[in-house]
Amino acid sequence: MRSIPKRVAGAVALAIALPFAATACGGGDSGGDSDTIVIGTKYDQPGLGLKQPDGTLTGFDVDVAKYVANELGYSEDQIEWKEAPSAQRETLIQNGQVDFIAATYSITDSRKEKVDFAGPYLITGQSLLVRADNNDITGAASLENNKKLCSVSGSTPAQRIKDEYPGVQLQQYDTYSACVEALKNGAVDALTTDEVILAGYAAQSPGTFKLVGDTFSEERYGIGLKKDDTELRNKINDAIEKMESSGAWKEAFDKNLGPAGIQAPQPPAVDRD
Ligand code: GLU
Repeated sequence: MRSIPKRVAGAVALAIALPFAATACGGGDSGGDSDTIVIGTKYDQPGLGLKQPDGTLTGFDVDVAKYVANELGYSEDQIEWKEAPSAQRETLIQNGQVDFIAATYSITDSRKEKVDFAGPYLITGQSLLVRADNNDITGAASLENNKKLCSVSGSTPAQRIKDEYPGVQLQQYDTYSACVEALKNGAVDALTTDEVILAGYAAQSPGTFKLVGDTFSEERYGIGLKKDDTELRNKINDAIEKMESSGAWKEAFDKNLGPAGIQAPQPPAVDRD
């Protein structure tokens, strides 16, 4: 892609897999990949990033990513999506397997040692999801009473439980959808992650789950990109600001997260430091 370091591995794979297609298009530079942008997102989080049976992706993160890509000069059909599970995000960026990631990705100091972030473009907080008929889980502290809690490896909510509630029996899965199944079938008693994610799962199975307690952290979602690529970071920040000020941000929020009962907040100010 233009003005962004090439994804060498991707270019080699493309050259091997599609020599005729690449030649036929005649497009791109010698790297062969300048016509597409690779974006990482979640595939299993309703309202944020969800792969539909027909292969298309929907959700607020997906719409933010599409808007940003468009501002960078890439139309929707030039986007190559890549699944970005929580624990793999830094590696996908560092290895150049994606150009950027929009995947409920909290900006944190420890992640900033490995990657850079544009944004934030959404602020939410950690919460708990339980089965609708549960009455004894009221907040994180009540989980220390021999409850099994599910969260995802490499996520900030899992880390916070380990740091602040070491008495809780935490089970770490690879994805939140696997935690939702475990919660449904009784293998765990609760699921913890960001409120917007949990609200999406609750809305997906009406009457099955409920959110409990107040949020107990601040999660600032950013777009992850290669460390020290200031040019790309500035361009993505410009795109986020334009999306927020034009009304497209609110429209995307209402469309994707409104059905889960979440009111659109004021869009956050982008951090230019
Ligand atoms: N926002 C949190 C994080 O980045 C939790 C959601 C997720 O795992 O994607 O770790």
